[in-house]
Amino acid sequence: MYKREETKPVFVGGVQIGGQKSVVIQSMTTADTRDVESTLAQIQRLHDVGCQIVRLAVINEDAARAIKQIKERSPLPLVADIHFDHKLALIALESGIDKIRINPGNIGSKEKTKRVVEACRERNVPIRIGVNSGSVEKRLLEKYGYPSPEAIVESAIDHVEILEDLNYDNIVISLKSSDVPTMIQTYSLMAQKRNYPLHVGVTEAGTQFSGSIKSSVGIGTVLSMGIGDTIRVSLTADPVEEIKVAKQILRSLDIVNNDPVVIACPSCGRCAIDLIGLATKVEDAISTLKVPLKVAVMGCAVNGPGEAREADVGVAGGNGEGLIFRNGEIIRKVKEDELFEELMKEINEMVDEQKPA
Ligand code: SF4
Repeated sequence: MYKREETKPVFVGGVQIGGQKSVVIQSMTTADTRDVESTLAQIQRLHDVGCQIVRLAVINEDAARAIKQIKERSPLPLVADIHFDHKLALIALESGIDKIRINPGNIGSKEKTKRVVEACRERNVPIRIGVNSGSVEKRLLEKYGYPSPEAIVESAIDHVEILEDLNYDNIVISLKSSDVPTMIQTYSLMAQKRNYPLHVGVTEAGTQFSGSIKSSVGIGTVLSMGIGDTIRVSLTADPVEEIKVAKQILRSLDIVNNDPVVIACPSCGRCAIDLIGLATKVEDAISTLKVPLKVAVMGCAVNGPGEAREADVGVAGGNGEGLIFRNGEIIRKVKEDELFEELMKEINEMVDEQKPA
């Protein structure tokens, strides 16, 4: 469908970003990083739904030191989100952080930047340069008049060149804007300038509903142009929801196909069961499975199995009852209140069949 741009591979712990690997999903904790147990509990939840890299806010030295304990038990590679303070970056690195998000142009002196870069080089830790439309320097705002795609890219390149002058190319770049067309043009422009992996997202996208749509349109468009190596959906919601949306974006573009997917009909006047309730329950129940399985939840037997021919397993509602089907064939009829359990029986059986012996 589209060819992904070739990018330089970088490694965040054991996870590769770029170099034509599949697109990596990441999120950020909302817990106070100094609260090790709460942060770890949130990381575990993110891991369980499919997050691959997690970022932590490092607001002071205590938070930077807490990384050591978090790292010991974290199932995911960790990124330290640091603004300005090179000391926090150095402590985070000593604590075992896997990646740092800091803008070298904001560290202060060249000497401080050099110390951070050398500590990263020693440990093979990538640096993510993150420019947002709100963080574009005054000089560039005056030059371009507003945080235009050109201004955002030029700001990012200025930071990149600081690292390149120090002979450091273990770099990831993000260029976020809350305006979707700006964000799309910005990533497209950046992809022509450098081949460092790109972290794609729409910043301050909004609440669960509007943010999911904005992120899907923005991130989906950029990915469909073959650009992007890792994504973060930013929602004003539980970060677990960010992962669900990110997975759905990647599935919709066929970038990943190793997760279960629910195909559900919109329902119509022929439907005589609680289809919305059933589809939601099924989607929730299978969200943590890690197998490629298509599950159809259809409102009626007239069109259900036929419309869901591509599905591995599914239900088609009837009057107070429903049909269970596998590979497009009806296998039995059950009462409406047993539909969920009976469908899950089939799903679990198929999951077991796909497990290596
Ligand atoms: Fe309507 Fe049946 Fe089609 Fe669902 S599967 S939209 S209930 S005709």
